[in-house]
Amino acid sequence: MRRAKATPQNRLKVWYGSLISVLLLTACGAAPITQPPAANPTATTAANVPPRVAPPTTAPIVSAPTMSAPTASAPTATQPPATAAPTATVEAALPAPQCTGLTPAQTEGPYYTPDTPERTSLIEPGMTGTKLLLTGFVLDANCQPIANTWLDFWQADGEGEYDNAGYVMRGHQFTDAAGRYQLETVFPGLYPGRTRHIHVKVQAPNGPVLTSQIYFPGEAANARDGIFDEALIADVQTTADGVRGTFNFVINAQ
Ligand code: FE
Repeated sequence: MRRAKATPQNRLKVWYGSLISVLLLTACGAAPITQPPAANPTATTAANVPPRVAPPTTAPIVSAPTMSAPTASAPTATQPPATAAPTATVEAALPAPQCTGLTPAQTEGPYYTPDTPERTSLIEPGMTGTKLLLTGFVLDANCQPIANTWLDFWQADGEGEYDNAGYVMRGHQFTDAAGRYQLETVFPGLYPGRTRHIHVKVQAPNGPVLTSQIYFPGEAANARDGIFDEALIADVQTTADGVRGTFNFVINAQ
């Protein structure tokens, strides 16, 4: 490389060049090294970024459909209504009742059907058998008649057969204002294992249900029937119009 001659002019150029370099370095100088700013304790970092809160939905609030109350069918009554009107119409004059204690309860047996029709006569066209008119009082423990007492009767027909599909030989009624009932029916036929009997449930308006049976005098099968109770024998008389029976119930009225 060819070097410049060291003339006075060249020396002056070199001197000026050095001076300018010094001035430029001084003026521009390297930026001072500063410490990085201390970490801001509240600075947001990836670790403590709060979860994004979803904006409130703007979807319209759909109100729940209004449920209409189901149409409930009237429950099937298995007990008599408290305000039942008496239905018994007693034709015969009844002797004054003699109360000798509560009527014994008896087994219901296998042939009870609830919700019987309200009627005082169980006789229907075409039936066979001996007509029976059964009457009497329903009395409380103090021997006082109870009006509006529910009585539900069921029995075998004259041939000893129960209707377990329908309501033949089944029916309920309510005592009249004098506490009397009257049932028109036929003598129940005999069936194996039992003597002649009529089943009954009796209930005062606010009392418990008495389940019992009514029997008849002079029946040979009475002595062979383990359920039979002579306290439940009706007073029976034969008339030109058939057989009339009387039986008074004495029950707990409350
Ligand atoms: Fe029976």
